[in-house]
Amino acid sequence: MESLIGSFMGGGREAECKEVHDPLSGSLRGLCTSWKEPLVIPGPIIVGGGPSGLAVAACLRAKGIPSVVLERAHCIASLWQLKTYDRLRLHLPKKHCELPLTPFPSCFPTYPTKLQFVAYLEAYAREHGVRPRFNEAVVAAEYDEALGFWRVRTATQGALVEKREYLCRWLVAATGENAEAVAPELEGAADFGGPIVHTSSYKSGDAFRGKRVLVVGCGNSGMEVCLDLCNNAAKPTIVVRDSVHVLPREMLGLSTFGLAMGLLKWLPLRVVDALLLLLARLVLGNTAKFGLRRPQLGPLRHKALAGKTPVLDAGALALIKSQRIKVRPSGVKRLMKHGAEFADGAAEEFDAVILATGYRSNLPRWLKVYAAKEVFGEKGDLGGGWKLGNKGLYAVGFTNRGLSGVSLDANRIAGDIEQGWKSQLEKIKVTSFACSHAPPSRRISNFTK
Ligand SMILES: Cc1cc2nc3c(=O)[nH]c(=O)nc-3n(C[C@H](O)[C@H](O)[C@H](O)COP(=O)(O)OP(=O)(O)OC[C@H]3O[C@@H](n4cnc5c(N)ncnc54)[C@H](O)[C@@H]3O)c2cc1C
Repeated sequence: MESLIGSFMGGGREAECKEVHDPLSGSLRGLCTSWKEPLVIPGPIIVGGGPSGLAVAACLRAKGIPSVVLERAHCIASLWQLKTYDRLRLHLPKKHCELPLTPFPSCFPTYPTKLQFVAYLEAYAREHGVRPRFNEAVVAAEYDEALGFWRVRTATQGALVEKREYLCRWLVAATGENAEAVAPELEGAADFGGPIVHTSSYKSGDAFRGKRVLVVGCGNSGMEVCLDLCNNAAKPTIVVRDSVHVLPREMLGLSTFGLAMGLLKWLPLRVVDALLLLLARLVLGNTAKFGLRRPQLGPLRHKALAGKTPVLDAGALALIKSQRIKVRPSGVKRLMKHGAEFADGAAEEFDAVILATGYRSNLPRWLKVYAAKEVFGEKGDLGGGWKLGNKGLYAVGFTNRGLSGVSLDANRIAGDIEQGWKSQLEKIKVTSFACSHAPPSRRISNFTK
């Protein structure tokens, strides 16, 4: 530990230190230690280099606070760059998806394509000087009470050997609600003769031309994949086991999301839900007639209470109505060599299966004991919180509000960290003077708390 603190005082390897992008480099440079020892980070560590992580780093930098972003992939926004299909566009209008400090270019369409969104994020990272440390997957983060620091351990993604340990006072979890693909184990999957792929590896329907494809799951991804399959001359069947809210993407000339947010400023949730359902019925008709039963709760309450996002129709519903997309109203019982048997006893032949079964967060796997005991709610979620406990732990992008919630979280987090950062700078000024006049044995305790 002494060497760690020694390096906090200004020792350590220059090569390692340069990787910490540090606007305050004049005063704090050299806070890190040698390769095998923990690397002390003067500012916060942000885990995840997606939109949320970039937003927090940018807000912090605007306040003069250096941060380190650890990203498991080799690029920023890995979900968007590596795990989404080609035809993807933002589901919500761009004004609800922009990150703090930098709006989307005015020449972008209302619903930017995935490539445009990625280009925006790349430019955003450049503009705000955010340079994540890539290929660093955080495998464990726990609070060291004795030291008063978070210990953050990383490994190369998929590797067994740990790479490095960092120490920091503030830790921001920005690993997203979609960090891991959820793929149910279907009985008989091993016998199935065709490919079974999760939407995270699906790129385009081109690979399924002329094929009978079973799409399991009817959220936004499942519906859009069906649309894409149709556009590529494949024959999709979608499994709709549960009830689902399908809403038009736009109503009364406004985006449905924007309309709902606007109405919520004046009316209670129940009333807004009732209005949305009335308008959806007028625009789309009775979706139950086509196998898409609506949940008992309205779309906003269903989202708030069950976490289920309504499907914003991008064209799939018309294909369901014309039966180019077939709907199967019951779950898959098992897969067979050339097809599937369903829970209602029906069976059908298929050449491929696409699992549009969603994602989950990986927070419980790497955020250790302290967080698990004190922070996670009964359901293992974060209860919509952005500040977790009082040990310098934050979460961004976990409020189930997509990109529209990211800006708000990022600004709040940066503002909160700024308070602690200023008082730490004061302490460093005072203590470094005292330390330079104290015998070496007293230096450790001066800097650990
Ligand atoms: C197909 C699809 C379409 C979507 N469309 C929209 C939309 O139109 N509008 C909207 O608001 N939302 C949309 N979403 C939701 C979307 O995921 C989020 O809004 C947005 O990506 C959230 O950003 P994030 O940074 O919180 O998470 P992510 O984008 O998931 O980024 C998290 C980052 O953390 C990294 N990471 C994960 N674990 C670790 C670890 N242990 N160590 C280091 N790094 C790690 C990941 O590699 C990733 O780069 C969509 C989601 C999907 C799947």
